[in-house]
Amino acid sequence: RVEGVETARVALMADKVTRRIIAVGSGKGGVGKSTLTANLAVALARMGRKVGVVDADIYGPSQPMLLNASSMKPQAREKTLIPVESEFGVKLLSMGQLIEPGKAIAWRGPMVGSALGQMIEADWGDTEILLADLPPGTGDVQLTMLQKFRPAGAVIVTTPQDLALIDATRAIDLFRQAQVPIVGLVENMAGYVCPHCGEISDPFGSGGAEAAARALGEDFLGRIPLAMAIRIDSDIGQPPAANNQPHGQAFTTVAEGLSA
Ligand code: ADP
Repeated sequence: RVEGVETARVALMADKVTRRIIAVGSGKGGVGKSTLTANLAVALARMGRKVGVVDADIYGPSQPMLLNASSMKPQAREKTLIPVESEFGVKLLSMGQLIEPGKAIAWRGPMVGSALGQMIEADWGDTEILLADLPPGTGDVQLTMLQKFRPAGAVIVTTPQDLALIDATRAIDLFRQAQVPIVGLVENMAGYVCPHCGEISDPFGSGGAEAAARALGEDFLGRIPLAMAIRIDSDIGQPPAANNQPHGQAFTTVAEGLSA
């Protein structure tokens, strides 16, 4: 495992690497996987890395909104897609750009697989790090991603409560079975600071992900607080990691750990 994690880290560090996929996964939806992916990408770009995001979350493609790129449409040369470049210096291709907005995506496995292939084999140019925002859980897309496109590593996002942790453990197991090294776990939505009185509370608990990481023998990459400002900025396509606001700092810290 240590060797695997080192491989993923080396992939992040290597200057000459043209493209390395780091999958961002979660056991269940709504834990902040997409928010983390967008902000890690923005933070890594601010650190001078050439970063792209593949939004493979077919059930809820939210990267165009998170990276303020909803109005940008990817072009194609021959049959190769050309990612859009968001204002944050992050290239992007999303399932959300390949389908009509507001339409449910009722695709069968092979269609999803081929759309995923088109996005990953797009013209990413000199992109060094390709973060893949996976759908939650352990289904078809995840399997295709792991077996066909072999990410260099995976970051697993979870909230601290038991239910989420059980699902996160399942996701970790899937990556392990596919021999994709786990770069580490991130705990999101712990430590809510009340905007009125400043008191810190833990609606979903706290410390669960770190304890789970320890129990599973994986690295713990850091904790992102539950903050109203994170949600508000995310909703308007201004990733907190893009500015020097205090509520973006936790994302930057995790990105620094990834790239160190
Ligand atoms: P997932 O990709 O796991 O389904 P999202 O990233 O879409 O989750 O997040 C779900 C919702 O929670 C979004 O509205 C997002 O803005 C919000 N959210 C995520 N992380 C935080 C956080 N740390 N603080 C506040 N809101 C958050």
